[in-house]
Amino acid sequence: MTLLEVERVTKSFGGVRAVSEVSFNVGEGELIGVMGPNGSGKTTLFNLITGALSPDAGSIRLQGHEITGWKPHRVCGAGIARTFQLVRPFPGLTALDNVRVGLLYGRGRGKRQVAGEAESLLALVGLEGKAPRRAAELTLMDKKRLELARALATSPHLLLLDELMAGLNPAETETAMALIRRLQSEGVTLLMVEHIVWALMALSQRIIVLSAGEKIAEGRPDTVAADPTVVEVYLGHAAGR
Ligand code: ADP
Ligand code: MG
Repeated sequence: MTLLEVERVTKSFGGVRAVSEVSFNVGEGELIGVMGPNGSGKTTLFNLITGALSPDAGSIRLQGHEITGWKPHRVCGAGIARTFQLVRPFPGLTALDNVRVGLLYGRGRGKRQVAGEAESLLALVGLEGKAPRRAAELTLMDKKRLELARALATSPHLLLLDELMAGLNPAETETAMALIRRLQSEGVTLLMVEHIVWALMALSQRIIVLSAGEKIAEGRPDTVAADPTVVEVYLGHAAGR
């Protein structure tokens, strides 16, 4: 079943077409990777899906319902959550309280219910021993775990990850990959932007490639990796640096 439909979505900033007539679908339970050089429109696409920005044209549907132009809290309430490229937990709050805030914000649950759920979410992301630690004291990897738990607190149908693995070392990258696979096996549908191409290729069922705001390729990881247009964008980009 189709969870998310993005149809010919366009967004310009001044003269720059950051996202240009991009269309794709995300099926229930899928993990879709989004790649593309810096400035190709990946974060803007996420901002459009989550309501941080409104598209100039095009339409976005969640479970068949039009959500185009909805404000972020409403999109979140409809079941789309995200993590941010730069993680930003409340630094002075404990890991547990950061997740509690997410739970209270998400569905307006009662306090007692929230306490138990916050602990299960911390366990799900591997932070069970660190509930009382202040977020500011956590390592980058643990801050990313917390960011995931916070996003999951709103019980999303769809979770958008924006460069979750940025800044992680290879061992931590493997840990993050295992965590993402676990979330998928728990039924979370994922759309992820990632610069670590090998990790994206290993995790994704399907990959979408953006270049200068346009979708230039979409398909299985092996097909996309062998696509001459994609190779050119990446090699051209590398050569131009
Ligand atoms: P990516 O995430 O792929 O690196 P972005 O979506 O951040 O790319 O940016 C795509 C293009 O849109 C870039 O040219 C960027 O400078 C521009 N852009 C993104 N956000 C804004 C904004 N809020 N105001 C003006 N230009 C923006
Ligand atoms: Mg970005």
